[in-house]
Amino acid sequence: MTTQFEPVIGLEIHVQLASKTKMFCTCPNGMDESAGPNSEICPRCSGAPGTLPVMNEGAVRLAVRAGLALGCRTNEVSSFERKHYFYPDLPKGYQITQNAHPVNGRGEIEITFGPKDKLQKKKIGIHHAHLEEDAAKSSHFADYSLVDFNRAGCPLLEIVSLPDMRSADEAYAYLTEIKRLMQWVDASNCDMEKGELRVDVNVSLRPVGQEAFGTRTEIKNLNSFKAVKDAINYEITRQTELLNKGEKVIQQTLLWDKEKNYTKPMRSKEDALDYRYFPEPDLPPLVLRKDRLEKIKAEMPELPAAKEAKFIALGLSAYDAGVLTLTRHTAEYFEAVLACGVPAKAAANWVTTDLMGLLHADKKEIEQSPVSAADLAELIKLVESGKISRNQAKAVFEQMYKTGQKAGTLVEKMGLSQVSDEGQLVAWAQEAVSENPKAVADFKKGNRAAVGALVGAVMKKSKGKANPRRMNEILVELLSK
Ligand code: ADP
Ligand code: MG
Ligand code: ZN
Repeated sequence: MTTQFEPVIGLEIHVQLASKTKMFCTCPNGMDESAGPNSEICPRCSGAPGTLPVMNEGAVRLAVRAGLALGCRTNEVSSFERKHYFYPDLPKGYQITQNAHPVNGRGEIEITFGPKDKLQKKKIGIHHAHLEEDAAKSSHFADYSLVDFNRAGCPLLEIVSLPDMRSADEAYAYLTEIKRLMQWVDASNCDMEKGELRVDVNVSLRPVGQEAFGTRTEIKNLNSFKAVKDAINYEITRQTELLNKGEKVIQQTLLWDKEKNYTKPMRSKEDALDYRYFPEPDLPPLVLRKDRLEKIKAEMPELPAAKEAKFIALGLSAYDAGVLTLTRHTAEYFEAVLACGVPAKAAANWVTTDLMGLLHADKKEIEQSPVSAADLAELIKLVESGKISRNQAKAVFEQMYKTGQKAGTLVEKMGLSQVSDEGQLVAWAQEAVSENPKAVADFKKGNRAAVGALVGAVMKKSKGKANPRRMNEILVELLSK
């Protein structure tokens, strides 16, 4: 008989903070991809003897904002340590990081996962989130290696979760939420292709029902959401097979090979590095006084969870509320449409299907939308008041998107506005009745659906301009006389 195992997963995520300059010097914080190798460095971030680190206030502010978004307690006093290892990507021979006293303490976020119509929620604990500097980037070739120090000293926030996840899907949802939150508060751009978000995953198994955790492995080198999911699933399968054979999981660090889809050992616990942590003597403790913390708190935007709850209270589904809070700009755009006095459901429909559809095809973000929230609201109002049909509005919207013109102007130009003039409508109805004796006879025999044919005849005659709902009423009235 094989034992049923439960996976236990914890993530360590590095995000590059979006400050203008590096953590401890005034070099640009490597966002400029066109900068040549080793062009954005100075004596400090390249480790020249005698230079001293100076704390970047902007990066600290972003780290605190990030922590607040993660529900972390901000520590009034935190401090820096040196973490030693010997490798060419580390100019000083040590990395300045926070170990014993991180800036952000315990926190918690809520993740959403599962199928669209059966969304599940779960709270995942954050152990802490600390500040540190990045290492340089090395590239290896057949018989030599190159090091680019542009990235050395860039500010990172390492977010360490509690081992609260139980499946690859939960880990994926956690990662998605971390990225949304970091971008939401402008703490990081989280562009994975640029290495602005890097993930290490820890995986262990335990027999279902057992409380104590099993031995874990740590997988490094994951640079896409897909790699995280694949690596976790691979590791769960590998460990399950080992345990079922009566073998043991060895605590070790593994590397994920994304081409071949397997994990390979990097180092075991025995050769785990001894980092020789000790306090960084060149930096005073980081002290966040109450007034400064209050100021940072006051500048925080409303967080996605609060916005989602608001949207659901307006009658939207949890799924739509999720789509409308994918980014802060999306939520703000939607709220701007609402502010023009448009019903929430209609607004949500237009934003999540029509607008997002065109933006997606165009590879644009909502903040680059050629149609402003006010212009979209104007269009929605034309539909709500019956001036144009939903189908006509779709065509108008496509033109608005293409040309940037307003709904009213385009409705005129395209000759679309629906005719609601009773005299004209009745005249069309009478013509349709006299021209379609068969439909009239069918209706009189009790086939009420026959009125549809007459409405169709009027729509043709009026080139789609008759208001179909009103036309239906007029025809039924005429025929029932
Ligand atoms: P280290 O600093 O040696 O990597 P930590 O104790 O700080 O170890 O944990 C790092 C990560 O590993 C955390 O995200 C934590 O949740 C996760 N973790 C710890 N123990 C386990 C376990 N038994 N199974 C899975 N993940 C674990
Ligand atoms: Mg670790
Ligand atoms: Zn520098």
